[in-house]
Amino acid sequence: MTNKSVTTRNPATGEALATYAAHDEAAVEEALAQASAAAQAWGATSLTDRLAMLRALGALLTERRAEYAALITAEMGKPITEALGEIDKCAGNCEVVADLAPHWLADHEVASGATRSWLSYEPLGVVFAVMPWNFPFWQVLRFACAALSAGNAALLKHSPDVTGSALAIETLFADAGAPAGLFRSLVVPAEDVAAVSRRVVEDARVAAVTLTGSERAGSSLASLAAAQIKKSVLELGGSDPFVVLADADVPAAAATAVRARFTNTGQSCVCAKRFVVHQDVADEFVEHFLRGVAALTVGDPTDAATTVGPMARPDLRDGIVDQVERSVAQGARLVTGGGAIDAPGCWVEPTVLDDVRPGMAAFDEETFGPVAAISRARDDDDAVELANATTFGLGASVWGGDEHALAIGRRIRSGALFVNAMVASDPRLPFGGVGRSGYGRELSAEGVREFTNVRTVVVA
Ligand code: NAP
Repeated sequence: MTNKSVTTRNPATGEALATYAAHDEAAVEEALAQASAAAQAWGATSLTDRLAMLRALGALLTERRAEYAALITAEMGKPITEALGEIDKCAGNCEVVADLAPHWLADHEVASGATRSWLSYEPLGVVFAVMPWNFPFWQVLRFACAALSAGNAALLKHSPDVTGSALAIETLFADAGAPAGLFRSLVVPAEDVAAVSRRVVEDARVAAVTLTGSERAGSSLASLAAAQIKKSVLELGGSDPFVVLADADVPAAAATAVRARFTNTGQSCVCAKRFVVHQDVADEFVEHFLRGVAALTVGDPTDAATTVGPMARPDLRDGIVDQVERSVAQGARLVTGGGAIDAPGCWVEPTVLDDVRPGMAAFDEETFGPVAAISRARDDDDAVELANATTFGLGASVWGGDEHALAIGRRIRSGALFVNAMVASDPRLPFGGVGRSGYGRELSAEGVREFTNVRTVVVA
C-alpha cells in the first residue's frame, strides 16, 4: 500500500490525464480517525445545520457545473450534455433532501398503550462507500446526501478511473462547510482494493457499508461486512426488460427505447437491456428503433451534439464486443453495428441484435454498453416469462394500454416498475433492486433511513 499511484485516462483518446498518489496505511488510518471524530460531532449537530450544509453543496454544484461536467467527460467519456445533466441532478437532489429530510427523519409516534412511544432515526457513524465510475458524481452524492443528512460521516472508495472526481467531491464537501473529515475519499489502486476494503470494514470505527457496482464486488464487500455484523446496502447490476405489448404506442415506445438503452453509452444499471416485444408489433418496433439508432451521434464527448461517447475502459469495450460475438454464434441476428470502432480510445458501434433468446450471452448476462437485445414474445404470458428469465431485478418498463401494461408489469419481478415510461431514478422515490441486483434502497425516506438506527423509545 505504499508509494503507489493511480493514473486516470481519457477513454475518448486513450491519453493519460493525471496521476495521483495512492493513500498508504498511515493515510487510511488518518482518514478513519478523522471520519470517526467528525461523525461523533456531526451526529450531535441539529438537522437544520446539516441541511444548511446540503443547500450550500447544491449551490456550489450549480456554480461549478461546467467544471465538474468537463471532469466527468474527461475521466469516463460521458457526452458533455449528459454530464451537465448529472451535475444538475445532484444539485436538485440536495434541494429535495434539504426540503424533505425534516419530514423523513422526524420522530414517528406510534400508539402502544404506553404514555408515549415513538421511533427516532439516529445516525450509525462512519459509512464506507464503494462506488463505480459510470455516474462519478451522482452515485456518490445520492448516497452521501442521505447518509450525511442523517448525521453520519462517509469514507469513499471510488473507482480509480474517476479519481479526479472523487477528490473534487471531497473538496466540494469541505467548501460547502462540512467539518474536516466528514467526507473523505481514499485513493486506492485496483490491486489493493480487496486489502483496503478488508482493513476498513474490519475497523471498529466503521459502522456500515454500501456498494454500487458488480455482483462480484458486492458479494465480496457484503461478506466482509456480514462477518463483522455490520449493515450493508448493495446496488448491483441489472438486465432490465423493456416490454412492448401489442396495444402499445409503438413509435413512442421505440423512441424512448433508444434513449433508455443508449444513455450514458449504455453504461447504466437501469438502462433497458432486453427488449421483449409482442410478435404482432415486433417488425414495426424494430423499424422505428433502428431509425432512432441511426440518428444517434457517436463522437467527441466534449461536443454538445454527441449522444454516444466512448466506453469507459478498453477492457469494457472488449467485453461487450465479446458478448455480441458470442450471442451471434449462439444464433442471435446482428441487425446493425456489432464491433469496436477502429480509433484511439474505447469506441463501440451502437449495436442491435434481434431474435435474442435465453441461453445467449446478450440475454443471460448484463450488457453494460451500447448493445440492444430484442426478443420476440408469442403472447403476454411469454413476454412475462422472458422478462422474468433473469437473475437480476432492478427496473422494468412496460408499454401498452395503461391498465393492461400495469397488470403485466405487476407480474414482473423488479425494484421499480415504470408504465409507458423509461426507468429513471427520482430523489423523491426509492431506488434499488431485488435478486442479484442487490438489496436496500437509496433516495427518498427509505434511502435516508438506511443508515440510521431506528430506535424505539417508550415512556411508561
Ligand atoms: P465493479 O468492478 O464492481 O466496481 C465498482 C466498485 O467496486 C469500484 O470502486 C471497484 O474498484 C470496487 N471493487 C471491485 N472489487 C472489489 C472488492 N473485491 N471489494 C471492494 N470493492 C471492490 O463495477 P463496475 O464495472 O465499475 O460498474 C459496473 C457495474 O455496476 C454494473 O454491474 C452495473 O450495473 C453496476 N451498477 C449498479 C448501479 C445501481 O444503482 N444498482 C448503478 C451503477 C452501476 P476497482 O475499480 O478498483 O476494482
